[in-house]
Amino acid sequence: MNILQKVKSNMELSRQNAKLNAKKVLDEVLKNNLYYDLYKKENNLVVNIAKIEFLETKADKEREELENIKRKKEQVLHALNINPKDLEPKYNCKLCQDTGYVNDKMCACLKKAVTNELIKLSGMNLNPDRNFNNVNFGIFSDSVRANMQKIYDKLHTVTQKYPDTKIKSVYIAGNTGTGKTYLSECVANAFIERGFTVYYTTAFNLNNNFLKYHTTFDASKTQFLSPVLDCDALFIDDLGTEPILKNVTLEYLWLVLNERMQKGAFTFINSNLLTKELRDRYGDRIFSRLMNKSSSIILKIEGEDLRLKSIK
Ligand SMILES: [Zn+2]
Repeated sequence: MNILQKVKSNMELSRQNAKLNAKKVLDEVLKNNLYYDLYKKENNLVVNIAKIEFLETKADKEREELENIKRKKEQVLHALNINPKDLEPKYNCKLCQDTGYVNDKMCACLKKAVTNELIKLSGMNLNPDRNFNNVNFGIFSDSVRANMQKIYDKLHTVTQKYPDTKIKSVYIAGNTGTGKTYLSECVANAFIERGFTVYYTTAFNLNNNFLKYHTTFDASKTQFLSPVLDCDALFIDDLGTEPILKNVTLEYLWLVLNERMQKGAFTFINSNLLTKELRDRYGDRIFSRLMNKSSSIILKIEGEDLRLKSIK
């Protein structure tokens, strides 16, 4: 079962549960004879009104009667000390009533649930406080602050425009401790807020997934690659810290980058490696995928180690 199927089946369970709970309350209330009669009358009346209005005649009298019955039902409920709302299923999402779809489009709640699963699966803990509204530029030294602000602004714009932007990949180079991960999490959270599915992983874990995929020989192997290929936005933290495994690392990284680029899916990478080092380590094919001028942004973060700074 893939993640989407799993999430959908959980939603369906909770939807059925909400309906069942409402039905239980109704069954209890129907034991009251007065309510039972009103309930039957109401059902008959609804059918009658539909018939009358189908013939394009007015059903004013019947509609008035219907309102009357509804009022009486509420009075009975009140006397029984039951909240009328308890007769309605309590769905987690009012928009889609826990079906996951609104007008054939994935509801934001479904996308959010898929992302939660992806985050769990990737073993990462995205800090939701790391977002574009919360950045403390005071932490950067004077010489890099303006540049950081520019970088944040640029990436904020990309997250707000996607997918209506030609920018589909971002590569951030910078030394350890310059705030790359913080920035990456801001971008990831912005995608989540906009209802996109996000998979956030380290290059090290991603490489392990590649290896597991490569060494599994049954259908279960797809679980190691499909989240990486299928998510709307993929985040790879610290590219270059993983070991290069023969027939694995370069081959699968290329496959992932290429497939995502062809789909127009968003890929975000941060790394200690400058462009020349990147080319030396991963070769021309991967390099040119990441450095494609028309669809990529390449940014360099300057500055001292912020982690040292915050201890001072
Ligand atoms: Zn929904």
